[in-house]
Amino acid sequence: MGEGDGIHAAGGEVAAGGRLALIFHYHRLNTYSFNALAGALDAGASGALGTGGIPIDLALTAQDVCRKADDALAGDARVVVALSLMTCQFGDAARLMRQLQRLKRLRGGDGRLVVLAGGPHATARPGEVLAAGADAVFRGEAEASFPRVLRELSSGGRCAAVQEPDAATDLDRTFSFSPSRGMFGPIEVTRGCAFACRFCQTSQIFGVKLRHRSVGEIVRHAGMLRSINRKVVRLLSPNAFSYGSPDGRELNLGAIRELLEALRGAVGDGRIIFAHFPSEARPEHVTPETLALLREFADNDEIVIGAQSGSERMLERCGRAHTVADVLGAVRLGRRRGYKIIVDFMFGLPGETDEDRRESLKVMEEVSRLGARIHPHIFAPLPQTAFAAEPPGGVSPPFLDLLERFRSRRALYENRPREEA
Ligand code: SF4
Repeated sequence: MGEGDGIHAAGGEVAAGGRLALIFHYHRLNTYSFNALAGALDAGASGALGTGGIPIDLALTAQDVCRKADDALAGDARVVVALSLMTCQFGDAARLMRQLQRLKRLRGGDGRLVVLAGGPHATARPGEVLAAGADAVFRGEAEASFPRVLRELSSGGRCAAVQEPDAATDLDRTFSFSPSRGMFGPIEVTRGCAFACRFCQTSQIFGVKLRHRSVGEIVRHAGMLRSINRKVVRLLSPNAFSYGSPDGRELNLGAIRELLEALRGAVGDGRIIFAHFPSEARPEHVTPETLALLREFADNDEIVIGAQSGSERMLERCGRAHTVADVLGAVRLGRRRGYKIIVDFMFGLPGETDEDRRESLKVMEEVSRLGARIHPHIFAPLPQTAFAAEPPGGVSPPFLDLLERFRSRRALYENRPREEA
C-alpha cells in the first residue's frame, strides 16, 4: 500500500475522503471519554470545523462494532471506528482491531475503513496500539485533534498515524457530553491532579496543573441535563474539593461555595452529586467546612474518600501526601456529620510487606468499625507511571478471606453506580 492510496500503520498516514460513518465503541468503561469527544464535535460546530453534524453510531459491544462497520462498508461512506483504551482493555481491543483489519481485507475496505484509538493506553504506548491494528492513535487529550482528524478524513485529507495533543484543553471551550446525541453523564469540573501518585496515570495524562471549568459553563451543562429531564447532576473531578484551587492542594472554599450555590439555583428539584463516584475526595480535604458546603447545597448522603493504604510507609512510597490519621479523621468527621462513607484501598502495592498489610488491615477494620465501607482495588502497573515496571498485585487467599470477612459484615463496596435518570 503506497503513500496516498490508503491506510498506513505506525509512522504512516491515513488517506480518506467523502461522507463518514462514525462508529464509537461505547464500552461502559469509556463512556465519559466518548461523551467528551461527542461534546468536542458539537463545540466544533460553532467554530471553524463544522463537525457538529457528523452522526455518531454507538456500538456497545465488539460484536456490534464489527456488525455496524460491515453494514456501513456495504454503503458508500468511509467508515471510521473509534476506540478508547485503558490498559486493562488492551487485550480485548487488540482482538477487535484484528477483526476490523480482517473485515477491511474481506470487504476491500482499504482506505474506506479507518480504525482510530485513543485513551490512556494509546497515550502511553502508541506503537503497541498501532501494531495491534489501529490506523491512527491519539495521545493525551483529543478534544482538539479528534474533530480535526474527522474533518480531514471527511474532506478527503490525511492524518498522521500518531496524533499528539494540541495545547491543553480549555474546558470552557468544549462540552462534557452531547445530550442532543443522547450521550450524557457527569459534568467534568476539574482536569489534572497536583499529586502524581506513583500508581496513577491522571497527572501523567492531564498534567499536575489543574484546569477548572467555569461556574457559568458548569451551570450551562446542568441546564442541558435538566432540559432533557435528567434529574441527576453529577460532578466529575480527580479530587472533588480541589475545585477552584490554583495548586490543587489548598482548598478554595469560596470557589466551591460559588459553584454549588449557583448549581443549586439552576437545577431546581434535580439532585447534585459531588465527592462521589466517579470522583472522590482526598482525606485531608474532608473538613468541617467542605462537609458543611456539601450538606447545604448537594444531595448525596454518601461520599467517597481515597485512602489506598493504611501503612504510613506505603502512603509515603506512593507519594500520596496524606497520612493514616488524615484518613481516619475524615471518616470520623464524615460519620459525625451523618454521611455514609466509602473508602478506596489498594492491595498488592509494589514493595508492600507483611507488616504493611497488617497495618492496612488494622486501618480497614477501624474504618469499618466507624461505619464506612471498603472499596477494594488490586494494584495494576500502568504505563507512564512511576510503578509501570512493577509486578501486578496478586489475588491471594488471605486477600480473598479479607474480602469475605468485610462482605459478610456488609462493609464492602463492590458496585459501580448506575447511570441515573
Ligand atoms: S490517585 Fe488521586 S490524588 Fe493521586 S494522582 Fe491520581 S487522581 Fe491524583
